[in-house]
Amino acid sequence: MKPTNKTVAVIGGGMAGLAAARLLCLKGMTVKLYETNAKLGGCCATTRVGGYTFNDGALFLALPGMLDQLFHRLELERSSLLPLRRVSALQRTALPDGTVVTFGEEPDISVEGNGGKAATATARKELQAFLNTWDPLLHLFADDILVHPLSLPRFIAKGWRYLHLFRGTAGAHLNNSFSNEAVRAAMSGTLLFTGIPPDKVPAASLLSLAAMFRQGYFIPGGGMGSIPETLGRALREQGGEINLNSKVDRILVKNGYAYAIDVKNQGVVEVDAVISTTSGMHTCGSLLSERDVPAKMARKARRAILSHKGFALQLGLSNKIDAGSYSNNVLPFLADQHQLFSPDPHELRWPIYMVPTLAVPELAPPGGSIVEVFPPIRQDLAAEDWSEERKEEIAAQAIERLKSIHDIDIAVRRILSPKEFQNDAHLYAGALYGLSPLASPAALFKYRSPIRALYQAGQTTWPGFGFASAGMSGVMAAEALIRDELR
Ligand SMILES: Cc1cc2nc3c(=O)[nH]c(=O)nc-3n(C[C@H](O)[C@H](O)[C@H](O)COP(=O)(O)OP(=O)(O)OC[C@H]3O[C@@H](n4cnc5c(N)ncnc54)[C@H](O)[C@@H]3O)c2cc1C
Repeated sequence: MKPTNKTVAVIGGGMAGLAAARLLCLKGMTVKLYETNAKLGGCCATTRVGGYTFNDGALFLALPGMLDQLFHRLELERSSLLPLRRVSALQRTALPDGTVVTFGEEPDISVEGNGGKAATATARKELQAFLNTWDPLLHLFADDILVHPLSLPRFIAKGWRYLHLFRGTAGAHLNNSFSNEAVRAAMSGTLLFTGIPPDKVPAASLLSLAAMFRQGYFIPGGGMGSIPETLGRALREQGGEINLNSKVDRILVKNGYAYAIDVKNQGVVEVDAVISTTSGMHTCGSLLSERDVPAKMARKARRAILSHKGFALQLGLSNKIDAGSYSNNVLPFLADQHQLFSPDPHELRWPIYMVPTLAVPELAPPGGSIVEVFPPIRQDLAAEDWSEERKEEIAAQAIERLKSIHDIDIAVRRILSPKEFQNDAHLYAGALYGLSPLASPAALFKYRSPIRALYQAGQTTWPGFGFASAGMSGVMAAEALIRDELR
């Protein structure tokens, strides 16, 4: 492909923006990236607090092959630029009857308590059968569907054999696949990140469970932030211009054509094309003037079903926490897991917490460790309603509960409530993934917007949320732009 001498503005320096910008530079375009925050990475960045490296969003990489494909498309060698550490002890789940279910590599599962050795043997057999069922679909998604633009005919042609797996809910599939209720509860615990109870979450989300067992979880040696840092370096090396502390206030449109952006404290910058990687809802509702947004696009933004809001309490400990697994859950049985979505105002009954330092000890000073606790929160409150008192109340409950399980010596802490996710991470209404995992693929915004020379990428476009997916969407939006420019 020949260089085209065009100038493109990329709005947002998260994974989608960085990937799109790097690809456009590689193809010879002049790229100006604008990021409102003082650093790159968006929801895949990290922040150092008193020597501890805390995640600003993403905790781990679930589909390592997808990140490799992303780097490959950007002409970068992932293995040398970004060594990854595998999380070996994946998950420990304690159930109300005292049973403990642990997931490890291999894939492996063991059940302690109720049923003991026999329960472990049965669970291993059932897990094997479950994975044998889901493996072909996992490969199809990881190697093909998720790394190409969304196409129903492509999916039907390649995936028609597996359509029955999409029927029903994840909860129903788990009930049919595993005979032990503690095992079922532990399995559905891996899907809680969707923010939807197992009896409602679509069966397709079980792909993430299959991916966990087959491909594992990974964290880069320097922490999650080293992923966007690596892409940022590669972008600069390719001649890309990165403007930090540069909020784009407006995308300017004339005669149905996006011709400039208006940047806070910099003014109007004329360009040949724009890629916006903020959510489709924000692009339509704030960056574009109402009169410029075609009715269909406005309707999609208005009707968007948003994902859940979240709360993270991040603790930097001066001691090593004695949690044996990366992810640690205390959960009710599957039929009662809806309780996790209507939190008890007085106590944290069902703690869910991750220990990133188990895989990457250097994220904490020597002898220390990091814990991230995710208490359930009310979803009916707006991001603005998260006062300091409300945050502190939930943090205190989480700390008290954690102290009832482990010896913890807190050195530093940070709270990310819906308010921080909205105001600092710039997530629309504080919704963690933008669109809900319940939204159909048709609800995603298209790379080519109906406004000429305006493209969209990021987690509200295909292939949706997840930092590698968001990066891939940046590649696909940039490819759409390049194809149009060469026409
Ligand atoms: C708490 C949490 C946990 C998660 N855990 C995981 C996980 O474990 N694994 C995983 O794969 N994914 C996870 N995700 C999802 C993943 O982090 C995101 O899907 C992905 O990083 C989104 O990338 P993006 O580029 O689309 O958006 P973002 O990362 O949100 O980047 C958009 C960027 O645009 C900037 N911006 C916004 N408005 C403007 C403007 N007007 N002008 C200039 N800049 C602007 C923002 O500051 C931001 O940097 C998690 C997300 C959250 C919030």
